[in-house]
Amino acid sequence: MTVLAVLAVVAAAFLFSEVYGYWLHVLMHDNRVEFLSRNHMIHHLVVYGPRMPQQTAGPYVASVQGRLHLGTIGVEWLLPGGAAALGLLALFHALSLRPFLQLVFIVSAITWSLAALSAMHDAMHVKGFWMERSPALGGWFAGLRRRHILHHTQLDDEGRMCVDYGICFFFCDRLFGTLRREPLPFNHKGYEAALERYAFIFPRS
Ligand SMILES: [Zn+2]
Ligand SMILES: [Zn+2]
Ligand SMILES: [Zn+2]
Repeated sequence: MTVLAVLAVVAAAFLFSEVYGYWLHVLMHDNRVEFLSRNHMIHHLVVYGPRMPQQTAGPYVASVQGRLHLGTIGVEWLLPGGAAALGLLALFHALSLRPFLQLVFIVSAITWSLAALSAMHDAMHVKGFWMERSPALGGWFAGLRRRHILHHTQLDDEGRMCVDYGICFFFCDRLFGTLRREPLPFNHKGYEAALERYAFIFPRS
């Protein structure tokens, strides 16, 4: 087994996490699978809503509503993530991939998802996160945060937040046409539509 094979598997794991995470995120913004959307749309409309401050002094306010969660990661990520891991292990087994490489893939994908998707996302919403003051990473982090604020505040007329689904990388947004670099004026009509579209997250009176 070569170092090259390990590097290729690590790269594949990162790529898989980004693409799978992107589509899962897109699906959470749809209103057809309430189970997947509930926590995420509470994050977007109740905790860090489009007209609310996008950063708080910290700690990050998770939207897990007492359902199954791991730290700030809710069931809407854990279940599809676990299902993907099982599906991939079955595929690797069918392809007779060496067990060590299977392990490398799964560990890399989980590490990437925890660091580059979960932890970095939460940092976007915390005022004073250490990267803000880092000479090496400050500029990069400010750019990521600007993108994530666009993700939270740019609404289409149907009430969808439809741009910048990426967290640290935006090649999926580029590829699938959801990249936005500069804000359009706030869409008030879109905001009203969002409150309608995701009405299921608000308690019925
Ligand atoms: Zn989102
Ligand atoms: Zn807890
Ligand atoms: Zn967010």
